Amino acid sequence: MPDSPVGTDAASVDKEMAKSRSRIPPPRHSDVYPSSLSKIAGVRLSGKELSTAWDVSIVEGRISSIDQHDPDAAVQLPSHDVLDGANRLLAPSLCHAHIHLDKCFLLQDPKYSDLQMENGDFQEAMDMTGKAKARFGEDDLLRRGRQLIEESIHHGVTAMRAFVEVDGHVQFKCLDAGLQLKEEFEHRCDIQICAFAQLPLFSGNDGGEEVRKLMSAAAQEEGVDVLGSTPYVEADEAKQKMNVCWISTLALSHAKHLDLHLDYFLEEHKQPLVWSVLDIVKDRNWLARQGKQITLGHCTRLTRFKDEEWSKLRQCIADLPVSFVGLPTSDLFMMRTPEGHRGTLPVVDMIHRYGLDAAIGINNVGNAFTPHGNCDPLSIASMGVGIYHAGAKKDAETLYEAVSSRAKAVIGHESTSLGLKVGELADFVLFDGTKSGWRSRKSIAEVVYDPATSRQTIRRGRMTAL
Ligand SMILES: [Zn+2]
Repeated sequence: MPDSPVGTDAASVDKEMAKSRSRIPPPRHSDVYPSSLSKIAGVRLSGKELSTAWDVSIVEGRISSIDQHDPDAAVQLPSHDVLDGANRLLAPSLCHAHIHLDKCFLLQDPKYSDLQMENGDFQEAMDMTGKAKARFGEDDLLRRGRQLIEESIHHGVTAMRAFVEVDGHVQFKCLDAGLQLKEEFEHRCDIQICAFAQLPLFSGNDGGEEVRKLMSAAAQEEGVDVLGSTPYVEADEAKQKMNVCWISTLALSHAKHLDLHLDYFLEEHKQPLVWSVLDIVKDRNWLARQGKQITLGHCTRLTRFKDEEWSKLRQCIADLPVSFVGLPTSDLFMMRTPEGHRGTLPVVDMIHRYGLDAAIGINNVGNAFTPHGNCDPLSIASMGVGIYHAGAKKDAETLYEAVSSRAKAVIGHESTSLGLKVGELADFVLFDGTKSGWRSRKSIAEVVYDPATSRQTIRRGRMTAL
């Protein structure tokens, strides 16, 4: 006879079992779609002759060859491991360089239906998100986070940097949910978890002691890939520098990437912290000590830079692995000076004119900081055509890269290039349906101008979304 649990009655055992059952993730996608593709046949490729179709072969999750398509071989389709490209455009998969997993869909989730926007300003966003955070529970963190990842995969995402907050209010609730989702989706999406201190590390009632204690514990977690903070929330400049010193030292000692929400203001008379950040990481000998990335998000103050400041920034960065992520939907919605000045990092110019590494990101989905938009990285690339006045083919391709290969590079993830090369990861998006006819997108620029909603996502040579 099996042992009965000591000190528990049948009802509490049932309750415990029901609880643990609810924690078991649904069947993995790879259990349902087990087959790896050996070839994607008859696709259009960026940078190659438009009138020619190509076959992309895959071995062990990587591109093994790219050959001219033989139309006669097509009669053997469909085959279980050969996907009919049907003359559609195959491009590298998409990436969220910066997305908040724990704060998503607060405006849609029924649990928070009483928290709706009345003013649409920064203070309201802070207040509403604070109220919502006080009610965060494992169930809704998992439900909302899972929805965000699932929708992202359907848009063509195979990698993301997901931010989860750590502070005295939420403790490790957001982090635990993030780590659970990372594991649940490990075969469909590479999820980097960024343990993130939105609150001050050195200001506030207790001088930030609790947040520092919690962040130190979070840094011990193996599943945490990135440590992040928000220096601009500190009370003064000295504390902002202490924030950067502390979090960069923590990242170095635990061999994690560093990601800062930096210089999120527009006023010209207020000086940006970016110069101090570069001095601090140089002082800590970042370059020699590890191969991890330093990523700086928002940085709206830099939009006031003149030519010489951009050039100086490039020189100061030198070989440091520093890159920038513009977050245009949030920046433009949230930031405005009394004179009506608005701004978001000019990523296309930063890349082409100043040789900086940059990408763009969604940041928030469905909350008071960014109520508009969805989980599709291409939607902001498309919006970038207007924001950055970047309609030329080359610029549109850069915008695609900013949510694909460049986005992966800024988070330290292996990239697949726009033109696809043998040996690269077989991480792709196939655009349009097989019956789209002449409306099928033929080039990267066309996808950026008018993103197709019908897509198939392939990660390491496996279909992750149909
Ligand atoms: Zn953010």
